[in-house]
Amino acid sequence: MTIGVGATLGWNAKVLTLFPEIFPGIMAHSLAGKALKHGLWSLDAINMRSFATDRHGTVDDTPFGGGAGMVIKPDVVDAAIRQTGPHNHLVFVTPRGLPLTQERVKKWSTGPGLTILCGRYEGVDQRVLEAHNVDEISIGDYVLSGGEMAALVILDACVRLLPGVMGNQTTSEEESFEDGLLEYPHYTRPAQWIDGEGVLRPVPEILMSGHHERIRQWRRDEAETITKLRRPDLWACYKSDNKC
Ligand code: SAH
Repeated sequence: MTIGVGATLGWNAKVLTLFPEIFPGIMAHSLAGKALKHGLWSLDAINMRSFATDRHGTVDDTPFGGGAGMVIKPDVVDAAIRQTGPHNHLVFVTPRGLPLTQERVKKWSTGPGLTILCGRYEGVDQRVLEAHNVDEISIGDYVLSGGEMAALVILDACVRLLPGVMGNQTTSEEESFEDGLLEYPHYTRPAQWIDGEGVLRPVPEILMSGHHERIRQWRRDEAETITKLRRPDLWACYKSDNKC
């Protein structure tokens, strides 16, 4: 099932899944959805079940070595990968993977596209991942019930970086992780806001000073403070000139 127009133009995403009806899901909305409609990117949601080799459409089997759950069969995944190629870059989403980072997202979004393999149950037979040299990527230290939401996370992060998808390109140059720091806080009107408890909460004065250099410095200080507090891992990296 191809979603969007101009499948051969623009950035191409392929998703190998047992639940293709999940796609485009959230990616049909807002800026990504508009870009999909306009052909800035395309999405093929491929049903791995159609690559099952028996007449029952079996895609999984019990794990060697025992244990709970089922494992998606290597022959099924292999057939799905081979018959839907060529693939730009193959990613399997799994909690065992390397962490998804903005740096990786940026690299993928500047390439021609991405193919994302979604696991279900206990996961996918390791041999087919090795046979196809698949990149294993995790979206965080928690366990989801399937890879589809992880795939959507990756697609969203990539698509918003494609040229023409977001109106204001500078937005993505200033945001979290761009320089190894979390982003500074944002404020908008009203300048004087009274919260539900009757407390007056003014916007930091510096932001209304019109003094661009001092505002820049204030934002950097805020970004550094919050990074130090919330993400000692990022902070250590930043302090070593992002050589980590
Ligand atoms: N038994 C596995 C978890 C299986 S969860 C383990 O302990 O590592 C079922 C599927 O959901 C996985 O194959 C994977 O595709 C997806 N998934 C779950 N958590 C994920 C995460 N944090 N990041 C990316 N994909 C995830």
